[in-house]
Amino acid sequence: MNPPTVVIDVGGTHLRWARWSPEEGLTERSVRPAPGRRQHPQATVTQLRALMVRALSDAVPAEPGVVAGVSFGAALDHRTGVVYGSAPLWGPAGSPFDLLGAVREVRPDVDWHLVNDVTAALFHFASAPGREHHRKVLLATVSTGIACRVMDRRTGAVPVDGCGLQGEIGHLPATAALLGRSVELGCDCGVLGHVAAYSSGPGIARMTEVLRQRAPREWQNGAVQAGLRAGQPFESAFRTALDSADPLARELLSSVTSPVADVLRTALCLDPEIDEIALTGGVAVGLGAHYRNAILAHLERRGLYLTSDRSPQWVADRITVCASGEADGLVGAGIAATTGAAATARGKGTPAPEAPGGGVLGDQAPVRQGRSHEIGEVYV
Ligand SMILES: [Zn+2]
Repeated sequence: MNPPTVVIDVGGTHLRWARWSPEEGLTERSVRPAPGRRQHPQATVTQLRALMVRALSDAVPAEPGVVAGVSFGAALDHRTGVVYGSAPLWGPAGSPFDLLGAVREVRPDVDWHLVNDVTAALFHFASAPGREHHRKVLLATVSTGIACRVMDRRTGAVPVDGCGLQGEIGHLPATAALLGRSVELGCDCGVLGHVAAYSSGPGIARMTEVLRQRAPREWQNGAVQAGLRAGQPFESAFRTALDSADPLARELLSSVTSPVADVLRTALCLDPEIDEIALTGGVAVGLGAHYRNAILAHLERRGLYLTSDRSPQWVADRITVCASGEADGLVGAGIAATTGAAATARGKGTPAPEAPGGGVLGDQAPVRQGRSHEIGEVYV
């Protein structure tokens, strides 16, 4: 019998929570605004962090043996649960904050498990039926920010570097061009020319402005502008324009997917054990097949040496754009909490339990490196 489990997903805008079990999935869902800068513009970082600890603690009922899995959208040290920073919640990077320690102090009755939100999404995606025999799975999220994680599905391990980090691809150097001329834009982290500067949601907005300035007449007559004039939000106007094969919309999509395709090409080149690449986040999920086709077009034009010529389907077979709900941080937090709690109960070094959907997940490296609560990682 599983202990009562509450799962919480903290993003820059919303804090969602629910009960979760492997058998029944998510029940009793709730949502509230995330207690961050947007909600409390006058509050200090110290006050905002205290509000977050309170919100997390309040979401977990006082029940014997209760377990809490938290999917947190911020930069975390995987090994310790210390948050490096969260620009959407707390503003520009400040001092590290021991979030896991703080919630343990306030609610010592709860068995807390903290994971980064990209890791949580990957846990959910990788646990689905049909992925039992994958060696490694890479999940990349393209939304307000960009990051990815690679899991070795055979062991459940998500390896990290000396800072407890993995997969911060949004802040890798990148180049971009529009209408045949290069573009150089600043990233939210303050550095010029990062992947996120061109390919994240805000990056796409900046690239759209560059395109509008470079081709003002064509833009005015284009399908995106027509949608905007009709009152559609940009995301909807962009998708509708792609549905009608509008040339400027296709140019924009090709430009903003190029830096992402560059990273994925390198990932597949360096690690042929990656059996599936999942693209999620508002940008990728919202554009769906258009996004996948644009990524594949880049990988067909400039592919993997020899492999793309001799076995072109090898790459295409590996790229998936997630459907809505297919990589849910709430479910991933539940999987992390359940497998972590089981590891705590049975002690270290024994085989991992079967994750929902089959296969072994969430154990080995993330759990064995310390207490099971210390599953956790990074995403800005
Ligand atoms: Zn950056």
